[in-house]
Amino acid sequence: MPELPDLLYILARLRERLLGREVTAERVREPVVLRCTVRGNLSLLLGRTLAEVFRKSHFLVFRFEGLDLAVNPMLAGRFRLTEPGGRDERTLGFALGFGNVEMRYLDDKKMGKAYLIATDDWKAIPGLQTGGVDILSPEFTRERFVSLLKHRRDQVRVFLLDKRVLDSLGNAYADEVLFEAGIHPKTFCRSISHDDGVRLHEAIVKVMSEAVAEVEDRAEPIDVKVRDFLKVRRKETCPRCGARIRTAGVRGMDAWFCPRCQPASRPGLVDWTRAGK
Ligand SMILES: [Zn+2]
Repeated sequence: MPELPDLLYILARLRERLLGREVTAERVREPVVLRCTVRGNLSLLLGRTLAEVFRKSHFLVFRFEGLDLAVNPMLAGRFRLTEPGGRDERTLGFALGFGNVEMRYLDDKKMGKAYLIATDDWKAIPGLQTGGVDILSPEFTRERFVSLLKHRRDQVRVFLLDKRVLDSLGNAYADEVLFEAGIHPKTFCRSISHDDGVRLHEAIVKVMSEAVAEVEDRAEPIDVKVRDFLKVRRKETCPRCGARIRTAGVRGMDAWFCPRCQPASRPGLVDWTRAGK
């Protein structure tokens, strides 16, 4: 799934190539990825100019006069910019032509969705969670984060993935951030000390800004997901201590972590090695 650094990179490239251009062609190869909550289909976009492309939570939104096309790439959705006239990929969901450039939405798993809605009609989109603080903005302060953390009763990894609170972390960067802060993914928020909360905030800012810069520097085509620089996610050994990376299920999601650098805390249990009795 594209995460924040990927989405920001894709967004910048789409803006460069497509803003101000008129839709000259459209085709839907996989109707299951498209939901229209307005009367009509993708052909409604023909002749309309792309006024803006922006991010709303983990959706990319293409804004035309009177209509928004909001795409949630889910697990496997990708965008590709290409010349019109090429052969359709097996995984093609839909394509929009903008004169001499074509934007394709590809999805191996057909789990992503594109919603054609009236402008700003966000309530028409099921599962669109918004309202989280943008973790790359100045509003994402240490005080605000620690206060959000203190009021949660669930596990820290579940909290990090909650898009109503933080905008936004996905599975891969949640693991990276917890590794950076040295916190076990199953730690309960309420057992995280103030100092650890501060370190977690610093880890989010550091990991995410470095990832944004790395993805930008690599300058790959927008359908290539740059993830090889990650430290724990889908890795075998810890780059810091050499221990074998483990996985653990947290609310049905696989978390990757280093058992030595991110030791499990046991709230409520006495640590007999330190109790002195
Ligand atoms: Zn380690």
